[in-house]
Amino acid sequence: MVQQKIIVTGGAGYIGSHTTVALQNAGYRVVILDNLSNSDKDSMDGIVRITGVRPEFEHIDCTDRTAMHRIFERHRDAIGVIHFAALKAVGESVEKPLLYYRNNLGGLMNVLDMMTEFKIPYLVFSSSATVYGVPDKLPVTEDTPLQPATSPYGQTKVMGENIIADTVVANSGLSATLLRYFNPIGAHPSGEIGERPNGVPNNLMPYICQAAAGVRECLCVFGDDYDTPDGFCIRDYIDINDLANAHVAAMRHLQSGATGVNVFNLGTGCGQSVMQLIRAFEKATGVTIPHKITSRRAGDVPAIYANACRAEQILGWRAVVPLHETLASAWRWQQKITKSK
Ligand code: NAD
Ligand code: UDP
Repeated sequence: MVQQKIIVTGGAGYIGSHTTVALQNAGYRVVILDNLSNSDKDSMDGIVRITGVRPEFEHIDCTDRTAMHRIFERHRDAIGVIHFAALKAVGESVEKPLLYYRNNLGGLMNVLDMMTEFKIPYLVFSSSATVYGVPDKLPVTEDTPLQPATSPYGQTKVMGENIIADTVVANSGLSATLLRYFNPIGAHPSGEIGERPNGVPNNLMPYICQAAAGVRECLCVFGDDYDTPDGFCIRDYIDINDLANAHVAAMRHLQSGATGVNVFNLGTGCGQSVMQLIRAFEKATGVTIPHKITSRRAGDVPAIYANACRAEQILGWRAVVPLHETLASAWRWQQKITKSK
């Protein structure tokens, strides 16, 4: 049987590498487009060790229109694109907004141009729960009104969704799915691929792992005076492998004839506070996390978690990996990368 080809931009990164594994396991042929600005080609080796298959790799910047044309021409037989390639550091986006608009939106517009020119019909886009801002009601559904973004990074997701919607209206041969991720955490259970933050992690999970490994002295818990049951911020932490599988389900849904723009929340439906996550990590791994309470981080949403029923009803997908397994996989990966340094 001829394998269907999917172009995965940003496929060397955290979510892209796990999704490549899921796609290859589901029988797709993957071509990764990545400029390696926030990843390493080592992730390819991890993918091969897990699946036995090396995805094709194109070292390319999605904002380079000429290069994108050349690569898409070469892969014009692709049936779909999963577009992960983006910069994602919220703080950096406040300092360098133009870098974020140029990279995240310039790359997306090139992808849409190429899909139109080469008549590639299916797009899956990495969006984020950040588009909901501070929601009035929890859990958030896909119909919860979007709020103004609180950072240029968040703005690139809101604008990205709109750019895709407008392009789908103009191009009847294109259908798209916007996946709004909540908080992806963990690593592949094999320990072969995982998250590799550059420098000091901004996100809670990699910080917890580095504090557990002694790479960081102490985790700062940002605020204990929120209007939540224990005073700590609440998020919906979703296993990275569950998240990866949702991309396969989304691509199959498009292939089965879904038209227009489809939107899905990808979360577990359960909120965990920062302190609950720390305690769950300690229980799952037996390692104590040195931590102290500090002031709130500017811009943090007090509480957000998903209603992910639409993904279950329409995609037949739901998060299944128990939190303790996700935390154990994150710790296994952290120990491996700490050792290899
Ligand atoms: P990541 O940084 O690990 O992966 C992104 C990949 O894209 C990297 O390999 C990077 O080198 C590549 N890239 C960036 N700009 C590029 C460009 N112009 N051309 C080619 N390659 C480029 O990040 P991730 O966590 O895997 O995130 C993937 C996507 O999911 C991003 O769009 C991100 O905004 C979105 N997202 C992530 C989270 C999260 O918590 N990780 C949450 C919501 C949404
Ligand atoms: N957080 C924290 N210390 C850290 C990093 C994050 O207390 O070093 C908290 C943060 O305030 C938020 C939660 O952990 O309540 C998740 O933060 P993250 O940056 O991982 O995700 P996001 O805020 O983007 O949902």
